[in-house]
Amino acid sequence: MSATKDTVLAELRRIKGPDLESNIVDLGLVSEILVKDDRVYFSITVPAARAEELEPLRKAAETVVAKVPGVAGVSAVLTAEAPQGTGRAPESARVTQARARGMTGNGGGRAPAAPATDAGTGPKPLAAVPGVKSLIAVASGKGGVGKSTVAVNLALGLKAAGKKVGILDADIYGPSQPRLLGLKGQPQVVKGKTLKPMQGHGLKAMSMGFMVDEETPVIWRGPMVVGALNQMLRDVAWGEDGDLDVLIIDMPPGTGDVQLTMAQQVPLSGAVIVSTPQDLALIDARKGLAMFRKVGVPVLGIVENMSTFICPKCGERSDIFGHGGAEAEAQRLGVPFLGAVPLDMDVRMRSDSGQPITATLPDSTHAQIFRDIAARTWAELEQAKEIAVRPPRLEVSDGGTMLTVEFACGPKYELPAEMLRVMSPSAEVQGHSPEQRVTVGGKRNVKIRELRPVGNYAIRIAFNDGHDTGLFTWTYLQQLGREKDKRWGQYLDELAKKGLSRG
Ligand code: ADP
Repeated sequence: MSATKDTVLAELRRIKGPDLESNIVDLGLVSEILVKDDRVYFSITVPAARAEELEPLRKAAETVVAKVPGVAGVSAVLTAEAPQGTGRAPESARVTQARARGMTGNGGGRAPAAPATDAGTGPKPLAAVPGVKSLIAVASGKGGVGKSTVAVNLALGLKAAGKKVGILDADIYGPSQPRLLGLKGQPQVVKGKTLKPMQGHGLKAMSMGFMVDEETPVIWRGPMVVGALNQMLRDVAWGEDGDLDVLIIDMPPGTGDVQLTMAQQVPLSGAVIVSTPQDLALIDARKGLAMFRKVGVPVLGIVENMSTFICPKCGERSDIFGHGGAEAEAQRLGVPFLGAVPLDMDVRMRSDSGQPITATLPDSTHAQIFRDIAARTWAELEQAKEIAVRPPRLEVSDGGTMLTVEFACGPKYELPAEMLRVMSPSAEVQGHSPEQRVTVGGKRNVKIRELRPVGNYAIRIAFNDGHDTGLFTWTYLQQLGREKDKRWGQYLDELAKKGLSRG
């Protein structure tokens, strides 16, 4: 027997409201009840300032609903209404009354502080997200700069480069990815409590918007945001058909405590900051930079959005918000400039109708701009990863025929010069299928002549046959260590198939 909304509501009527007056249903605190695959989802609106104190109320609501016959799981979250002045929606009379009684304490126009634990004391290791190799946050110093538009087109640009990409809409103040991707409905539940991500234009997608109505204004208290975010990150089958190369997180706009907490709690590989030219002048974007730096997340770069307007009729270029501000500022701050997106009617219309330009008009100049931004972002991400790995101790031994590698985090291992030479990550041998790639034979006696450091993330190895172009990054050396036997076996098979010998 499946649970119905009515049976759920009947049970929730047993739960008293925050001040033990009436019950949460009759007080109008319970949201629309969603019953999907025997799981029940709802939210309870409480005064933001009392959210922590009212956690037992949330638990009690979950407990009573869990006992309803046919319910396999319950997900109840606390929400608080948007304060006045956010321009989102009028405050309900109930909250206004509560505010008058001094209950909410949230008139300042932003969510109350979350405990900013460990800020400034360096990143602490966070558990990886199952099914996701890298996470990139897309953030902005304030709302309305086109952060979500850039996030979705960046994701599509990465997809166009052959990556497996997902997008997580963590913009709890105004989830817009369902609209941008033209998605409707709710995600399905698979295997008990795991959600199946939605699919839009080839991206896997999850959004607060799937859980709450886009029109519902919500301000989530910091710790709850993190709870909900963690659920959306970790209880979702991102890797259902192969791990995602990257998950783009569309962050809430701004750099307040909620954003800081998110940046601290999610194992981000990097962050992209979106800004309009005039926004940078107003230092909002700089605050974003400072926030990510504080929590040790590498800033991959800045995207300047709405940078220039090219008149579709006469082709005249107008710099409505000024132009080049972000590029100059990025240079001054020492962060990469990832690109400038013009102010364009097509970008806006397609975004707002669920047809993002990178997916639906791939031959347009704008789609190319987003693909270029994606390529730069990816290159910065790769580099950031290399820098994150501390350099290993390297020693050439046995007359140049062996390289001993020792990373701080693992045991010492040896890589033969012949293996390094034939698996040199240069274009001729890597990145192709065994059929396409050039298999290098005759290198049984090759020797390492010299190791040349490249930055703090790689070495070049000069061999005695004159080859010295391969860039051996720390992560590649780690990969070779892990997959040594498998790769060597594959190499011997390739040699045999192609009729070559080791020499
Ligand atoms: P944010 O996430 O920063 O609040 P959105 O991505 O929702 O901003 O964009 C706000 C509005 O601006 C949307 O209507 C969007 O279509 C429009 N927009 C964003 N970027 C551009 C652009 N480059 N050209 C024209 N309109 C844009």
